[in-house]
Order: sequence, then structure tokens, then C-alpha cells
Amino acid sequence: MGKDPQRRDITVEFNCQFRVALGSSDFSSIMKAFIMLLPQLLEDFFQKVLVGFGEYEMGLKQKSFACRCCGNDQEFIWKTRHGKATSILTWFRWITIKQLQVQCKRCGGKLYITRTLLGMEQKKRVPEETRRKLALMGALTSYRVSEKIGNMFGWAVDKMTIWKSVQQIGAKMDFVLDGNEEPRGEADGTGVGITGIPKRGKELKVLVQYKKGGGIRVAGIDIGNYNGSWKKLFQKSIEVMKGFDRPFLLLTDGDTSILESLKGKVTILVQRCLWHIPYQAQYVLWKDGVKRKSEEWLHVVTELMEICAIRPLVDCQGTIQAMIASKQTRLEKVIAFCLEKEYTHTATYLENARGDMFTAIENRLEGKTTSRVERLFRTVNMRANVSKWSIDGALNVTKVRLAYYYNGFDA
Ligand SMILES: [Zn+2]
Repeated sequence: MGKDPQRRDITVEFNCQFRVALGSSDFSSIMKAFIMLLPQLLEDFFQKVLVGFGEYEMGLKQKSFACRCCGNDQEFIWKTRHGKATSILTWFRWITIKQLQVQCKRCGGKLYITRTLLGMEQKKRVPEETRRKLALMGALTSYRVSEKIGNMFGWAVDKMTIWKSVQQIGAKMDFVLDGNEEPRGEADGTGVGITGIPKRGKELKVLVQYKKGGGIRVAGIDIGNYNGSWKKLFQKSIEVMKGFDRPFLLLTDGDTSILESLKGKVTILVQRCLWHIPYQAQYVLWKDGVKRKSEEWLHVVTELMEICAIRPLVDCQGTIQAMIASKQTRLEKVIAFCLEKEYTHTATYLENARGDMFTAIENRLEGKTTSRVERLFRTVNMRANVSKWSIDGALNVTKVRLAYYYNGFDA
């Protein structure tokens, strides 16, 4: 029950008396005895507080609960303060408390008020706060390690409950562009290793948005087939994109399916991510029939890697200009080489990429943009590689994990 500012605090008398047999007074004996004591203490404490607030509530003219049959929220009598037992998962362990039950004076309907007092949904046994803690723990490390850590500190919680919490919290999470942050971002996909599903068989797609104060937030996430649609991921953000006072600037490797899903809906400026160019070049080289690892293949690929390699934050404008000029000359030579060898796909690809490429190089040299998604993907993989996953399982754990690292989710 949320605290009503007009209400006074309720004082609960809590005298506890326990009889404990200890064989020794050393530290670990005391800790062990306390952990045995903890559920009893917690149960008593919960019970006393609930009865205290229940009594107070019954003294009020208008109650915070209403009869489900007739809607009466004023006249009730106590049925019992220690009724049918119910279990609740606290931060430490399951506890059993006796439910408080009242009866409607108008229609005679009976009503349990324990969960109303706890601010929990009827019939739920795991409070939202407990769920969030378990979900975050399970997203930060493996379920097995979560269970171990919990147990070490007296939290008797099992892997299954942690798993379920991750799924529930993750499934409820929604990622969308924030109209108050920058109209700029990056979209990219990466293969995810999902144990039990053929290696790198699925692609994690992420849309990140730049924040005004620096840093990024996650604005869209999905796991699906390679070359699958980006539609689902962008759908919720299209209205937000339209609301910006400038066209949305999207950095991407130019995966056409990203653009397909946005066609005609919003103006998007696309920049190519530098780190993709050497990789995409390998694909066009293959189309041109160039043998992998041959002398010609190695020449083109290594030249492109050198051209795209950036030492960030060079702060001298003259140096930046000279570096760009040198890279430009080098790229022209690679294009000329491809034309001479009749690698038409590769030559066309590089000619098309040229313009955006140097904008990106320039920005990156000046420290304006770096591919932040790249780092984000590493954050994901550290966790997704650990367990056996279903697609939904991997998506949910990734959602909770990214929400914690980038979107301010905390327990
Ligand atoms: Zn009633």
C-alpha cells in the first residue's frame, strides 16, 4: 500500500523472543543460527506490521479496499487476523504469513486484504521488487552463479525462480526512441551464439540512440533470422522520429532491410560504419570470383583495413586533413586496382561507399562518432554465451542486461 501523505505513521510494537541452541559462539555458528532464525523473524514482523495497518484501516471511514461483490468500501468487520496461510518470496527467502480477512457488512462477502496491504496483485506470490532483483542478478551473471551468490548470503533461491524472473521482467520491457534525446543513432545486427541453436544462427538487432549528455540508450531490440525484417524493431519509434525537429540521422552499414522498413515514413540520413567496409568487401570480392586469401584478395582486404583503421582523437586539424588525404589516395589506388583486375562488384561497392566513408572517417577522427553498438554487442555476448537458451530466453535476458547497462534499469 502506497503511503497516503495525509496518514500518520503507524507504530508497531515488535517484541521478539526466540529460543536458539548454539554449540559455539564463533562467527559462523552465530551467522548460521541467525539464518535459521530469519524466516521466523521475518514472518512475525510481516504479520505484526500487516495486522497493525489492518487495524488502522478498519478504523477509517473509507477503506483502501472495496467489496468485490457490492463495491462497498466503508463498512466491514474482521473475519480473522490470522487466517489461511499464504507464501511470499522476500529478498531473503519464502515466508508464510497468515492472511487477514474481512467481511462486508452490506452483502456478507468475504475479502482477504493481505495483498492489498502489501501493494501486491491478488494471488501473486513473488512481489515485483523481488522479481526485479532476481531478474537483474540473472541477467548479470549465469543462473547457476546467481543461485550460488544468493545462497552464500542466506538467500535460499533456486535457478528456476531466477530464470522465471528474467523472463517475466524482460518480456514486459519495451524499448523505444526518446523524443527528448538526440535525433541520432545507430542500427546494427550481430550474430548471437545461442547454445542449443546452431552457432551464430540468429541475429540480434539493436537500435541505439545518442543521449544529449553523451552516452547511448537502447531504443529497440529483437532477435530473429538473418536478413529478417527490422520493421518490428522500428515500428514503435516511427512516431517519435516524426516528432524530432531534424531528420533522424542513422548510422548503419547500409543493410537495405533496415531502410526498407522505414521507406516513406521518415527522412533518414545513413552513414556507413567504417568497421563494416573490409567485411562487406570480402563479400563483393567473393562475387567477383577472387579466391579467398589469394595475393589479390589479401591486398584489397588489408588495404581497406588500413584505410578504415582510425586512431581516434587526433586533436590537430592539420594532421586530420593529412590523414584523410592519404587515406583517400590509398582508396583511389585500391579502386583502380579492382578496375584493372575487372573486379566490377568490388569497384562499384567502393565507389559507392567512398562519400559516406570519408564523412565517417572525418567524424571519427574528430571524436564525433564511434560505433557504440560494437561495444554494446560485447556486453550482450558475455552473458548470452553462457547458458542454454531459447530465442525468447536469450532476448529477455539481453533486454534486462541492456536496460541495466544503458537505460537506467535497476533493482
Ligand atoms: Zn459487499
